[in-house]
Order: sequence, then C-alpha cells, then structure tokens
Amino acid sequence: MISQRHLGKLCPYAKDCPVYQEELKIEKVSSFLIKNVFCNRGYKGWKNCERFNLAEEGREIPATATPYKQK
Ligand code: SF4
Repeated sequence: MISQRHLGKLCPYAKDCPVYQEELKIEKVSSFLIKNVFCNRGYKGWKNCERFNLAEEGREIPATATPYKQK
C-alpha cells in the first residue's frame, strides 16, 4: 500500500513545526517563501528540509533547526 502521508502537499510535521507555525523565524527569509519552497510543496520540497529529514530518520531536532542544513 502506498504511504498516504506523501500524497498531500502539506508537510506531515507542519502542525507541530515551529518554522511552519512561525514561532521560529529565519533571518532574511520570509515565512511565505519557506512554506512555498519546503512545507507546501509535497515530498519534493520536504526532502530538502533539514527538520523533515531529521524527523524522518527519528533523530532529535534541535530547537533552533531550520529547513536549511546546519553548518
Ligand atoms: S517542511 Fe520542514 S519546515 Fe516545513 S513544516 Fe515540514 S519540517 Fe517544518
């Protein structure tokens, strides 16, 4: 059976994600842009998100983690 969670466009973690909920702002990048590039874009957007990938791997997500790769 195909996993249902990748069929929608909104990231399955959005409800509890501080980036999506706009509690964690990213310097110089608007929430609108972040959501369009990552969160609302289906799997092809989510897979580029560091928070999404950490969650998928079952790893701890640092409170300050953004969709962008940490240095
Ligand atoms: S794509 Fe990333 S930033 Fe967007 S809701 Fe999912 S985990 Fe959060």
